[in-house]
Amino acid sequence: MWTNGKKCAVALSFDFDAESLWATLKVSSPTFLSRGTYGAKVGVPRLLHLLNKYRILATFFVPADTARRHPEAVKEIAARGHEIGHHGDVHESPAQLAVADERRILEIGLDTLEKLVGTRPVGYRSPAWDLSEHSARLLEEYGFQYDSSLMGDDFHLYPLKDGERETRVAELPVAWELDDAPHFLFNFFPTYLVGLSAPSKVYEIWAAEFDGAYANKGVYVLTMHPQVIGRWHRMVMLEQLLQYIMDHADVWFATCAEIVKDWQKQQGKGVASQA
Ligand SMILES: [Zn+2]
Repeated sequence: MWTNGKKCAVALSFDFDAESLWATLKVSSPTFLSRGTYGAKVGVPRLLHLLNKYRILATFFVPADTARRHPEAVKEIAARGHEIGHHGDVHESPAQLAVADERRILEIGLDTLEKLVGTRPVGYRSPAWDLSEHSARLLEEYGFQYDSSLMGDDFHLYPLKDGERETRVAELPVAWELDDAPHFLFNFFPTYLVGLSAPSKVYEIWAAEFDGAYANKGVYVLTMHPQVIGRWHRMVMLEQLLQYIMDHADVWFATCAEIVKDWQKQQGKGVASQA
């Protein structure tokens, strides 16, 4: 239950990786990059239109690389009131980074996004959905309110731990089941990705997981990518899912930061506000 009396919180999150997604797979030829560009050019406008139609504010996790390549798209997202979160520099996994590199990348992302949209990110999502042994301590040190990369719960937030110590950073858990990429993202080479699910299959999974979040009075976090969910047939499914969710009473669509703030209020703790 949430402090505003709502029964279930719903966070639509979008990892706006654009071209940098393909850097993770170490490919940079034109077709790969064009898939990322498609996300910025086609996916983002479609998503902004849908979010505006239903008056929903969402969270976009943006690598600094995307902010440099597509500054107007990122500014437009922020101007519409959506939250902008940190998502690496060029979509690096922090898991294997030396602590100095992890620190440098955190600073690049914070500074690049703050300069572009005027607000310092309070949320972090690891591009690999993995953290290093230093990440929790660094996220706390840099004043992040939350991380959204781990899978230690499904419908409930929990404190991010640095070893055995609970940090003041909240963990907003994610799940591969609730990510569009494993369901839809297809690729041949260098990594074979199956993808290409029928939207009806994904709808079945996503709707049933929402039922679980609703029954447990918890939070429902979807992770999507403009270059993946932006395809027309998937957008049709996403809109049907939003309508299904909206047919339930007392559902609270909110940004990740808003949901984390409410959870921290209930816990009676949190990182001191930078506002
Ligand atoms: Zn990503």
